[in-house]
Amino acid sequence: MAKHHPLEDLEKACAESGLDMADEQFARLMDSRDPLRAFRDEFHYPKMSDVLNTDLSLVDPSADCVYFCGNSLGLCPKKTKEYMDVQIDKWAKMGVQGHTNGELPWAWCDECLEEDMTKIVGCNREEISIMNGLTVNLHLLLISFYRPTKDRYKILCESKAFPSDHYAFESQSKLHGFNPEDVMICVEPREGEYTIRTEDILAVIEREGDKIAVVCFAGVQYYTGQLFDIPTITKAGQAKGCYVGWDLAHAAGNVPLYLHDWNVDFACWCSYKYLCASAGGLAGLFIHEKHRSNDFPKLLGWWGHDLSSRFVMDNNMDLIPGARGYRVSNTPGFLCVPLKASLEIFSKTSMEELRKKSLLLTGYLEALIRRSYQRPVGQKVEDDGMSVYIDIFTPHDPQQRGAQLSLAFNVCIEELFKELEKRGVVCDKRLPRVIRISPSPMYCSFLDVHRFMGYLRDALSAAKASLGHLNTQKV
Ligand SMILES: *Cc1c(COP(=O)(O)O)cnc(C)c1O
Repeated sequence: MAKHHPLEDLEKACAESGLDMADEQFARLMDSRDPLRAFRDEFHYPKMSDVLNTDLSLVDPSADCVYFCGNSLGLCPKKTKEYMDVQIDKWAKMGVQGHTNGELPWAWCDECLEEDMTKIVGCNREEISIMNGLTVNLHLLLISFYRPTKDRYKILCESKAFPSDHYAFESQSKLHGFNPEDVMICVEPREGEYTIRTEDILAVIEREGDKIAVVCFAGVQYYTGQLFDIPTITKAGQAKGCYVGWDLAHAAGNVPLYLHDWNVDFACWCSYKYLCASAGGLAGLFIHEKHRSNDFPKLLGWWGHDLSSRFVMDNNMDLIPGARGYRVSNTPGFLCVPLKASLEIFSKTSMEELRKKSLLLTGYLEALIRRSYQRPVGQKVEDDGMSVYIDIFTPHDPQQRGAQLSLAFNVCIEELFKELEKRGVVCDKRLPRVIRISPSPMYCSFLDVHRFMGYLRDALSAAKASLGHLNTQKV
């Protein structure tokens, strides 16, 4: 447990201002003190009248919705359209000459974005490449790093890994003639717990490490919002001779990362969640400098060839060392556009600054939820069938989470979710009882959190008649 909790800062601000945390004035005060508040204006923040299923008799149509779904798809930077027009014009006017001319020459448009991307994940230029989609990159990395032998063939991952990662592990096992059931060790939370303890991961590494080829977890677990202890797990895996890689889909742009210093072997991430670079946007790939000149097996294409002789076309591969050598196809220039628009905004601040705000913002959300909906101490899951309780199953320790909170209700949320939608709350549901909310520090405000709490209260009372109470702890 971290010694310092953001709740302490919030309480201090309350005491100093004489305001109650639940006062709208307090949210406004926190916003006025937020050094990053102007960034909201760099994005198109959807309006109540534009998001689906809103009941415009309940809300002001011209007001901003409550967008707490940046963990799924980040908002659109306003500059995207302008930059896209530049590229369309270039294509229209220059055709093929646009490959090497004008803004974002397509032949190296990904490389123009690397510098800003290194700051998101904490590495140097040679260690990253911007290409493909996330799962494709995970496969390319596993081709290199998962080279099972008769004695060392296991993959250590989390139970309930994101399906795409799970399928990647399964299919990679089969590719090597192994049965996925023999290969995958999926670490689970303890009985009655929601998240996985670091000590339990370390214990498996200690026990099974000699048989594990690759350890690969999500940096931030998409469902529980748990932030894993990346440096500790990486070190432990490597001490046992495993390669350790991370899927940073929910971590990139959410929490500070120091992949180089943490000595991570490999990593991949997408750019459309916290990184706001459009649906299906270009993904990232990281390979540590120490593997720069690796002779691991890999799938090659012409874009891994050194640029200076790439177009000589003599079929003699001159492979670029490091991550860029993993590029297979030429880069989709148009997908670089939203990424450029987004990274420009990220580069005006830092992940450390964003994290500072995020700790307060998510801490504020947690505090307000606990105040109104926390199950009384000692109250069993089998409740009175009357009250609504919310168990936040994302860790309370801010060191073990990013922006997201995962909420488990003791009632079926089907109607509740519809009522939230009617009030312009955009978030993610998983029936029967879980809602995931993520106030992105980049464009969400303390007032959004305050508004969310009001809408949640209203939605609960509107749905009251249809809230089926659940006596289950399963999420
Ligand atoms: C979002 C996400 C994906 C999605 O993969 P794509 O290849 O981008 O479709 C994969 N893994 C994790 C952990 C994710 O959070």
